[in-house]
Amino acid sequence: MPDMENALYVVATPIGNLGDITLRALETLRGVDLVACEDTRHVRHLLDHHGIKVPTIAVHQHNENEAAEKLIRLLGEGKRVALVSDAGTPGVSDPGARTVAAVRAAGFRVIPLPGPSAAIAAMSASGLVDRRFLFVGFLPAKVVARRTAIAELAAVDAALVFYEAPHRVMETVADLVAGLGSPREIVIARELTKLFEQIERMPLAAAPAWLAADANHQRGEFVLVVSAPPPREGVDAETERVLAALLADLPVKQAARLAAEITGQPKNALYARALQLKGD
Ligand code: SAM
Repeated sequence: MPDMENALYVVATPIGNLGDITLRALETLRGVDLVACEDTRHVRHLLDHHGIKVPTIAVHQHNENEAAEKLIRLLGEGKRVALVSDAGTPGVSDPGARTVAAVRAAGFRVIPLPGPSAAIAAMSASGLVDRRFLFVGFLPAKVVARRTAIAELAAVDAALVFYEAPHRVMETVADLVAGLGSPREIVIARELTKLFEQIERMPLAAAPAWLAADANHQRGEFVLVVSAPPPREGVDAETERVLAALLADLPVKQAARLAAEITGQPKNALYARALQLKGD
């Protein structure tokens, strides 16, 4: 690419299938002076597959600050640098964010090249129709911290997207069942884009038995997507408090509209409740 800028290119790479790389990512990897990556051998495999010969430099969790300084020096010399992680999108449950922050702070342009990410791939094939999803990534490895994190997520009105390693998937799923309640569903997406890809949707409570039914079900890389909690009946206590406070000074219609804006709850439900409160 002759018109490539002196910048840091943040390049998404495949999460399994080496064909999942964009034309622009290939052009960019071919055109840069250096590829900064987590594991140089891993990225070499990808580059060799596409016949790309470019020097690499390791940037991982333990040397990220130091490596960022080096990249900034190279950018200062007018070099074009790509940043990739082992798989998917850098900065998504992967190192990269600190490098990007440092490079931006040093005044260089950071150019994203979007592409694969396991969370988005899993969401896209989940068939869940929830309006919103929250990307949680990895839960804490320690039991108490993990259960606390799950408890904090229980009331979030969105589908929840988790990453999990095979050796912890059984315990994490058991904790999700205990912490998130039974009317929810789960989509277990393992080995996305790879030979043994499997995407199974089931009631959350059925997931431990499904995982235990076959040792293969516990192998590989996992994205777990849990559907949003069922809609709550009526208006919750916090919304009701806001509505009541507004009603003290405003007409019903205006109070309902403002309460909807403040709380994000549907205006019609708030209007109906406001009428009841006024009647009381
Ligand atoms: N940066 C990556 C992304 O954009 O998806 C995520 C990297 S994170 C260190 C690795 C985790 O992502 C795995 O433990 C797994 O939870 C998930 N993951 C990555 N590749 C996957 C795949 N092919 N199938 C299912 N999950 C995958």
